[in-house]
Amino acid sequence: MLSYRLPQWLRRISPGVRGSKRLAPSPHAEALRTLSQFKHPPLAGDRASLLVEPDARISFDAGHGGTDPGAQHNGIVESSLNLALARYAKLRLEHSYEPVAVALTRTTDEYLSLRERGEASERQQADLVVSIHCNAATSTAQHGAMAFALPGDIAALDVARTILRCMPKPLNCGTRYAFSADADADTDSGRNGVWLQRVRNVLSPHYPRCAVLLEVGYLSHIGDARALECPAVQSGIVTAIMAGVDRYRRIVADSRRAG
Ligand SMILES: [Zn+2]
Repeated sequence: MLSYRLPQWLRRISPGVRGSKRLAPSPHAEALRTLSQFKHPPLAGDRASLLVEPDARISFDAGHGGTDPGAQHNGIVESSLNLALARYAKLRLEHSYEPVAVALTRTTDEYLSLRERGEASERQQADLVVSIHCNAATSTAQHGAMAFALPGDIAALDVARTILRCMPKPLNCGTRYAFSADADADTDSGRNGVWLQRVRNVLSPHYPRCAVLLEVGYLSHIGDARALECPAVQSGIVTAIMAGVDRYRRIVADSRRAG
């Protein structure tokens, strides 16, 4: 449910949305249907090499692309939004001046197989891969972000939970996750098995050990779709991803100290 308040000026000129919990429709709805819809600050190109050795190498893997557009609902093409969010996350992390190296498995609208995605992250010597996707369901009631890690990948599960905890309000439905066929207390094993198979279809077996699948929201849910078009929400998603990266760096630092 959307809960942030409309700015005063918008409430004045849009009496119809006064008090409504629905996000006002974007005035640029039509323009938002193409890749150029996702207007973020222009990419400044790769940051000049770090002055210090990066303490983590992160690869963002934008799901789908090229002949595989992924889910398409409510005017949004998943592959485009995935790429826009991946590029935005890279840009924000680079401008945060944290000692991390950031790369993308794809930078354009191109098709990559799971193997190619894995090989790209290997070339980039990624320690952590965050695979960015949007969900869709036949039921239009399903909504909210989810994040997954594969069984036994404890660090990735920790990162996945951190990202979910920090997701912006309209997409944040609590820390729902699935990670292991031997079901955690709050996921029943049947449902977990279904998710596990879906995660295996998306997370490349060639990724490095720590890999997280982030499903930012349901394109098939009108509230999620409108929220995902909103620059403030996109920024919030990237902030959540950055919190996940920060969590990963802490895990690595703690294990170095312990080791
Ligand atoms: Zn997808």
